[in-house]
Amino acid sequence: MSAEEIAAGLYARVRGCQLCALAKTRTLAVPGEGPLAAEVMFIGEAPGANEDKLGRPFVGAAGNFLGELLAAAGLGREEVYICNVLKCRPPGNRDPLPAEIDACRDYLDEQIDLVDPLVIVTLGRFSMAKFFPNQVISRVHGQPRETAGRFYVPMYHPAAALHQGNLREVMLTDFRTLPALLARARGQAGLLQAGGAPPPRAPAPAHGADSLNGDPASGVAPIAAGATLEQQRNDGAGAPPTIEKTDAPAGALAHRQNNGR
Ligand code: SF4
Repeated sequence: MSAEEIAAGLYARVRGCQLCALAKTRTLAVPGEGPLAAEVMFIGEAPGANEDKLGRPFVGAAGNFLGELLAAAGLGREEVYICNVLKCRPPGNRDPLPAEIDACRDYLDEQIDLVDPLVIVTLGRFSMAKFFPNQVISRVHGQPRETAGRFYVPMYHPAAALHQGNLREVMLTDFRTLPALLARARGQAGLLQAGGAPPPRAPAPAHGADSLNGDPASGVAPIAAGATLEQQRNDGAGAPPTIEKTDAPAGALAHRQNNGR
């Protein structure tokens, strides 16, 4: 079965999903969109009113600002994969409930496995919590972390900048670091695919647990308390951010090679 066929099956299951109560109040489920060979995946929180009507992620004002942010990173929307933690809109745009996130978890995990991106950018605190639990977005935004051959970067949700104007420039600054990070991720993937000897391996985090913070099994140290983005960039504007790192397991490389990268 091709990746496209797998994705089509996944999207059909999402559109017909009845696993949580949001199925009763949604207009359209929003599975996600983008090329399955995308190098960068953006994970937001949940569909809003416009997304619920159109069945597409990040449309409307927040989507327009995401387009602006992507442009600042030299990326086109058509070349990245975009989805949400929840595939259906919570009524009144309330916060997702833990039970809803649990019910929807497998869909997102399947998308991550299918796309197998080099970089995952979390947008907002609910998607950040999947990979960086117990962290505060104001302290860790823009600080990438590497594990299992993939880079993860927590960022603010674009909608936050619509309500707090001071976040607009913060988000633009964070997005401008993505090209350097993507170049590093590409180089590392190329090195590994060329047969470079990877250093000793640590196990990849399980999607179910997801934590990249302080999980002894992940081999990733917690984000240093008080290490602000500004402190990490004291080499000047545009300098690549410091990256916390663990080593890539063989499985991650094999999966990426199967995806043609
Ligand atoms: S939010 Fe997720 S689990 Fe709940 S009905 Fe929609 S697709 Fe299913």
